[in-house]
Amino acid sequence: MTVARSVAGFSQAELESLFVELGEAPYRARQVQGWVFRRRAGTCTSMTDLPNTLRSRLEEACPVHSSRVAEQRRSEDGSVALVVELADGEAVECVLIPEGRRRTVCVSTQVGCAMGCVFCASGLAGIRRDLEAGEVVEQFLHATRLLPAEEAITHVVLMGMGEPLANYREVVKALRVLNAPWGGALGARRLTLSTVGVSPSSIDRLAGEGIPIRLAISLHAADDELRRRIIPTASRVSVADLVAAARRYREATGRDVTFEYTLIRGVNDDPRLAHQLAELLEGLSCNVNVIPLNPVAEIGLEPPAPGEVEAFMDVLRRAGVVVRHRRKRGGDVEAACGQLRLGRLRASGGGASCRS
Ligand code: SAH
Repeated sequence: MTVARSVAGFSQAELESLFVELGEAPYRARQVQGWVFRRRAGTCTSMTDLPNTLRSRLEEACPVHSSRVAEQRRSEDGSVALVVELADGEAVECVLIPEGRRRTVCVSTQVGCAMGCVFCASGLAGIRRDLEAGEVVEQFLHATRLLPAEEAITHVVLMGMGEPLANYREVVKALRVLNAPWGGALGARRLTLSTVGVSPSSIDRLAGEGIPIRLAISLHAADDELRRRIIPTASRVSVADLVAAARRYREATGRDVTFEYTLIRGVNDDPRLAHQLAELLEGLSCNVNVIPLNPVAEIGLEPPAPGEVEAFMDVLRRAGVVVRHRRKRGGDVEAACGQLRLGRLRASGGGASCRS
């Protein structure tokens, strides 16, 4: 499948080569990236210090975007969910989450997801395809444009639809663009990748990329059997292997790894499981994010009562684990975890395409 290429996914060197191909000076690459990333230009035709003919040639050869915002929903808590329609008609979602001085954008890395976590909306209709690096970066650009000129995105989390390590090459390419001074200009510690940990070797590979981003591992259980029930596709990787990979990631990058634990009533919320989790993580400098389940209508699982969430966290705290309660954001606009796209799939009456 050919997906339209866009400036957003180009490294500076690649864009320089494109200009040379077009018979232009390579310095144009910097100029264009300045327009896209600093001046938030949405089209090449608006880049007024480029010769007119070049602007239109560029717009044709390589537009700023290959995607467009098809839908925008503002939540009462200030977060904004976007449905981004891709060139081939598929759709992904991204969410802008303002919190104090932080402006975080949560982006997707695949259309749908193959992991099949039992509680998650993203995987309900399976996987459609991987995103290209440009399509990941474009979500960041679309979110940037929601902000007033004096504000900028401060953090990007790869926690939207899809499993980022299952789309390794394009995801790392996108991270490099977001990290580059000519691109997103976000320091590595402002970039977070969340993974079910498809394979410990992909975590090692990431540690060796030279961008020490933050790593979050979706654990959800400290016990192999229970984890397999929650993440069926993770059956080949043991929890012990994941913790070992997290330890190596920490040694290689100096970053503490975060473990995410989505709490599901009656499934993984027993305080005894919190003890087990604390034992598993003993001696590892890390954080645990406890996320009470965000219920998805089709799935029928529920979050524990608030008191039970606290009890679970208390066990961890008393065992010396650094634990945070991750608040649900954008619930009123279905801005969580693939729910907005799912809503569109529902409305169009099928699972095959997001378009009605
Ligand atoms: N595939 C990656 C990234 C996407 S999901 C991963 O699994 O880490 C990002 C986080 O959102 C994961 O921790 C996931 O478990 C959590 N999540 C997904 N659906 C959820 C829901 N309905 N309620 C609470 N957390 C959810």
